[in-house]
Amino acid sequence: MQNDIAEILVTEEQIQARVAELGRQISNDYRDKVAGEAGQSLLLVGLLRGAIVFLSDLMRAIDIPVQLDFIGISSYGLGTESGAVRLVMDLETDIAGRHVVIVEDIVDTGKTLSYLLGNLKARNPASLQICALLDKPDRRTVPIEIKYVGFEIPDKFVVGYGLDFAEGYRNLPFVGVLKEHLYKVVLMREAIL
Ligand code: 5GP
Repeated sequence: MQNDIAEILVTEEQIQARVAELGRQISNDYRDKVAGEAGQSLLLVGLLRGAIVFLSDLMRAIDIPVQLDFIGISSYGLGTESGAVRLVMDLETDIAGRHVVIVEDIVDTGKTLSYLLGNLKARNPASLQICALLDKPDRRTVPIEIKYVGFEIPDKFVVGYGLDFAEGYRNLPFVGVLKEHLYKVVLMREAIL
């Protein structure tokens, strides 16, 4: 698996240090907001499936009460180009009046989050912010305000720490660039079919 990686962009140590910082920042920003009423907590909404590794580390770096829910959005097939965005699994939680942070693995064109923000805002949360591990600002086609960003990265296709290619590589502990010939083969096969 590691032989398929051309270059490590973000090491395990860098990720751990940044996740700890983000956890502290989120805890401080929401401490007063969720302290008022008994049973109040910050709702972390993870985007399936890429965000789960980040989310599971991030939530343990947050020291205020949190709850979790998940939402499934389909934006990528086997290939690496953004396709149509659609909701494939909805939240179980009613987010009206709740403080919500969407936890995402990577923001690329911004289409996925733009769709999700519109969808969730209509449910009247008390507040709605985004926390993304990775940001590829050069690829943005839809402007998105991301309050918490782990790392800005160049326009390269990355895998690891939850991010996949054709459902593989999610368990790599770092973020790396996949060797180009590996995904070119799949893209060519998709184009033919
Ligand atoms: P957007 O809608 O912002 O273009 O795309 C966001 C989604 O595309 C992410 O949630 C992720 O699933 C996928 N994506 C974008 N760039 C990459 C990348 O470099 N590697 C992987 N594995 N997925 C990516």
